This record gives sequence, C-alpha cells and structure tokens, in this order.
Amino acid sequence: MTDTVLYLAHTEADGSLSRASLEALTVAQTTAAGLHVSLVVGLFGGDVCDAAASVGGCGASRFFAVAGADFASPRYASDAAAAEAIARATDATIVVAAHTSRLARVLAGVAFRLNGCIDTHVSAVDSSDGSIAVARWFYRQRIEGMARRTQRPWFLVIDPGVATAYVGPSVDIEPETITVLVPSTRTQTVGLREASAAEQTIRPDAALLFVAGAGWTRKQKDGQTHTEEAEQLILGFLGATGASLGSTKSLTDIAGEGLAVLHCLSHMNQVGQTGSTPRHPKGLSACCHGEEPHVVGWRFIRERRAVNLDANCGWARGKADVLYVADAFEVMRQLNGLLRARETSSRGDRQPIYSNAS
Ligand SMILES: Cc1cc2nc3c(=O)[nH]c(=O)nc-3n(C[C@H](O)[C@H](O)[C@H](O)COP(=O)(O)OP(=O)(O)OC[C@H]3O[C@@H](n4cnc5c(N)ncnc54)[C@H](O)[C@@H]3O)c2cc1C
Repeated sequence: MTDTVLYLAHTEADGSLSRASLEALTVAQTTAAGLHVSLVVGLFGGDVCDAAASVGGCGASRFFAVAGADFASPRYASDAAAAEAIARATDATIVVAAHTSRLARVLAGVAFRLNGCIDTHVSAVDSSDGSIAVARWFYRQRIEGMARRTQRPWFLVIDPGVATAYVGPSVDIEPETITVLVPSTRTQTVGLREASAAEQTIRPDAALLFVAGAGWTRKQKDGQTHTEEAEQLILGFLGATGASLGSTKSLTDIAGEGLAVLHCLSHMNQVGQTGSTPRHPKGLSACCHGEEPHVVGWRFIRERRAVNLDANCGWARGKADVLYVADAFEVMRQLNGLLRARETSSRGDRQPIYSNAS
C-alpha cells in the first residue's frame, strides 16, 4: 500500500502556527520525501487562512481545513472530531503532528477511532531507505529505541526541538473545507489563567537553562537563610540573560513543607526524573547537588556548568563540564554586577533593564 503523509496542525489564538507545529512540518516533509509519497496538509482552528498561507509553499499536494468558532479553543470533543475528519478525508496512513498539549491530548483517541496506532514523544523519523522508522526515548531519556510498525494509520507526535522549523514564502491557499458536526460542546473556554509563578520564568526557547537548587534556601555561613536575596539574585540574572528557570525537586518540595520559599518557582520548573527534560544549548546550576534523578533531566543540555560549595557534589562526578567550587551568592552577586555593567555600557546612559541588590 502506498502511504500518504498527512501533516496535521491546529492554529494558535492569533491564527498562526506554533514553532513546534512548524518543526513537525519539516519532519512531515522529509518523511514524505524519503517515502517518495505525497504530503497533504490538514489544519483546524477558528480561522486557518493565515496558517494555510504560511505553509502554502511547503510542497503539499492538497490542503484541507476544519474551521469555525467551534474549533477556535482547545476542547477534546471538537479537536478530536476535527482531527478524525481530516485523517479520514485524506486517507492518511502516516500522520505527523507536533506534541502540543492540544494534539497530545486527543490523538491517541483519534488513532483508536481509526483502528490505527500512535507513537508520542517521537524524537526522529527516518525514512531514508524508503521505509519508516521512528526514534523515541524510554526510561526517562536513558534509552533510545527505534520502532517500525505495519499498522496504519500511524500517528507520529513529534517532540518540540528535534527539527528545524519550516520557513517558506507566504502563498495564498484555499484549503478544501471539511464540515464537522461537533458531537458535544458541553465544555466551554471561559478564559485563560497563567501558571501560578508570579513571573513567567519557563522559556523553552532560551539559550540558557539556569537551575536553582535547594541550597538557596538553606542556612548559609552566617547561620541564617537569605531567601529574599536569593530570589533577587536569581531574578536579576534571569532579567539580564533571558535564561529559563529550572529547579530541583527538593526546592519545589520545600514550599509544601512550609519552609522559606522562592516565590518565582513552582513545581512546573522542576527538572529531572519526575520533572521536565528541557532542551537548551547551555545549562548553569547553582546550589544544586547534581544527583542522578535531577541530572537525568539534563539529557539534552549540551554544555553544563555548576556552582556548589561542595567539591564532591554530583556535578564533580562527570555530570558537568565545569564545576565552580564557590559560594553561589557571591558568584551570582558578581555575575549580576558584570551583566549590569555590560548592559549599562552597551546602552550608553540608559538605565539597566533590571535592578537588584548588589
Ligand atoms: C524517584 C525519585 C525521583 C526524583 N525526581 C527528581 C526530579 O525530577 N528532579 C529533582 O531535582 N530531584 C528528583 N529527585 C530528588 C533528587 O534525588 C535530589 O534529592 C534532589 O535533586 C536534590 O535537590 P538539591 O540538589 O536542590 O538539594 P540538596 O541535595 O539539598 O543540595 C543542595 C546543594 O546546595 C549546595 N549549597 C548550599 N549553599 C550553597 C551556596 N551558598 N553556594 C553553592 N552551593 C551551595 C550544597 O552544597 C548542596 O550540594 C528524585 C528522587 C527520587 C527518589
């Protein structure tokens, strides 16, 4: 049977496609090219015109759309109905989609409705030999496996950050419209609520991950804790560098134990075995011991540095490229001072973009 590769995506609130979606398009293109089969595009959302134009030059043979107010906001019933209708209309055998929260939630159910199968968290698709194999990580990114399947349709949900985002000229496209009757609209979107952290500190696109460990809230050499200063130092560094903020399990658990907390952190920041596995080119950890259940979350961080008072901490045992055995409060005070000075000199007499205790 000849495969048909469907690229499936939903629009964002502003009608565009997310970066993760454009990365999945690159994967869909190379997959179709490797299999020597046609690529079709299926989009759903409130209004898909801009999104269709943005991918109009991707080389797809046909474009399909499910559009309308019912599909503007995420909702299981409508999103699953739209994805199912597009997959049926295109007779897709391979469906490539980004691992957005919206698609990850519905595609397993859609695959089931179509008697198909699904692989989520796909990190690579290899179709170079004319057949298709997908890679994904197992056991919290410790083992990489390749899978081949004969069952179709096969849904491949691609992790963000594993491919370059599609870039192409805007081409006006009139997609073929598929009418979908939404079976149930009991669920309504009434608004958006931000994550509880006072400031949005999780920045997946940042060049640097800064990880704060529980040491920031521990008693220091004067026998006192300095949690407020710790928070100022961390936020000052984030403000100056645009780094993303990660934390350890110990630090996020501390809030639950009623101890002094860093307000800029929530459990969402936790990196590790029971936390996230972010992808940033560089990582800097401070006041974190570097234990394996935490460092396993650094699987994709290529250049790693750490600051710790303890020369025997986990980072010293092959987990970091550079370990600074030093007091992180002193290091970050000086580092922020240097960043502030650089900021001031590069802006002439303009004020730095942040202020914190020196
Ligand atoms: C099943 C399981 C799953 C787990 N999952 C995760 C996970 O997903 N993520 C995770 O993070 N952990 C996880 N853990 C917990 C993990 O094993 C560690 O307990 C945790 O990472 C330790 O956090 P920490 O390094 O911040 O704190 P600590 O171990 O308390 O280390 C604090 C460090 O701060 C240093 N320090 C203190 N003051 C300073 C200073 N002024 N300057 C420099 N350094 C200083 C100390 O030397 C110390 O090394 C898991 C554990 C288990 C059993």
